[in-house]
Amino acid sequence: MGKALVIGAGGVAAVAIHKCVQNSEVFEEICIASRTKSKCDELKAKLDGGKTKITTAQVDANNVEELIALINEVKPDIVMNLALPYQDLTIMDACLATKTNYMDTANYEPEDTAKFEYKWQWDYRERFEQAGITALLGSGFDPGVTGVFSAYALKHYFDEIEYIDILDCNGGDHGYPFATNFNPEINIREVSANGRYWENGEWIETKPMEIKRTYDFAEVGEKDMYLLYHEELESLAQNIPGLKRIRFFMTFGQSYLMHLKALENVGMTSIEPIEYEGKQIIPLQFLKAVLPDPASLGPRTVGKTNIGCIFKGKKDGQDKTYYVYNICDHQECYKEVGSQAISYTTGVPAMIGAAMVMTGKWNKPGVYNVEEFNPDPFMEELNKWGLPWVEDFNPVLVDTLPEDTKKPELVR
Ligand code: NDP
Repeated sequence: MGKALVIGAGGVAAVAIHKCVQNSEVFEEICIASRTKSKCDELKAKLDGGKTKITTAQVDANNVEELIALINEVKPDIVMNLALPYQDLTIMDACLATKTNYMDTANYEPEDTAKFEYKWQWDYRERFEQAGITALLGSGFDPGVTGVFSAYALKHYFDEIEYIDILDCNGGDHGYPFATNFNPEINIREVSANGRYWENGEWIETKPMEIKRTYDFAEVGEKDMYLLYHEELESLAQNIPGLKRIRFFMTFGQSYLMHLKALENVGMTSIEPIEYEGKQIIPLQFLKAVLPDPASLGPRTVGKTNIGCIFKGKKDGQDKTYYVYNICDHQECYKEVGSQAISYTTGVPAMIGAAMVMTGKWNKPGVYNVEEFNPDPFMEELNKWGLPWVEDFNPVLVDTLPEDTKKPELVR
């Protein structure tokens, strides 16, 4: 069918590339390009020998000219941006210049401020439309599958969705007192920011980790979860008509929160540069360098993730609730692709999103979030490629749980 250029060779890219190779009917050829070429070569060495032809290249994705030269050489049908959110705009610029389709799994972030906003990328809408190319934003799990779940719920089960709660539970244990499951810099930025949710047309801000509930997750059990801001809230609040409220909850253990607070208190999570021995360093980037590489967690992580959305709304004038979720086993993922479930649950939808664009099922000039496309073919592919989903028409609703706004111990 076609050729993809994958940018990035980290945890998520490794899974997506494994899956592209499994889906060789669509991905006849892939080029893996990243800052450190040896990581691309390692992936090629592991995966060569199948039907997909693999090549590798070195690229600095902050440099538009380098990207344009690479795209012109490879001539891909799509660029899969699996590098970091800082590179989204340079890669989009290069796609525009070469009239090549684009996809990513995370919204653009300026290096100096944590914003989690789509506005920079939505500003490309007209230019992509005029160039006749598709940009698919946020095709990971959350954002990504959570948006597809929302579009699917609206299409098949509701006349109107009024409430959405996204519940992201990681019941995995890697045995370290503190480590992050994906890029530590992005992860810590996300969880140390203020919480925020959308209600009746307004954003309501909370302190970090201020709102806590305990939920009994299928196949994982009871876990503490905290209200966070997460980027799909912004697009879903706009794209699901009639929505009254949307929130996002993520589970964290006590040890993770205690360490994070201590690191915050000593200034290690700051993104403000400081001078150290005559050199400017960003404390959070230094912290990343001393923490375990998320890719190294694969063999040691046991347990399951359970991520999904609970919807409440109306169908034929009646109240209706619906919960759709995926359960993923860390060790099963490791056996299949050599990565833990966090990279797996992001890398699989990244491959599916790219395949949707390449096969023309999700091909529409402009810049779109996943929920703006027909969810049905994506939902089918989730079942096929390792992320089967489960439906529950009578779920426990978050609003029926006892309120617990008390901060966890040692966390001020
Ligand atoms: P990693 O840090 O493991 O990998 C990032 C990769 O990008 C590395 O190979 C890195 O190269 C490469 N890279 C960084 N800067 C550049 C550059 N300037 N030029 C070329 N390559 C570069 O991150 P993850 O795989 O964990 O995450 C990848 C993306 O997925 C992130 O944007 C993250 O936010 C997103 N994500 C999305 C989720 C979702 O559900 N939607 C969930 C989890 C992650 P090098 O090896 O040299 O450092």
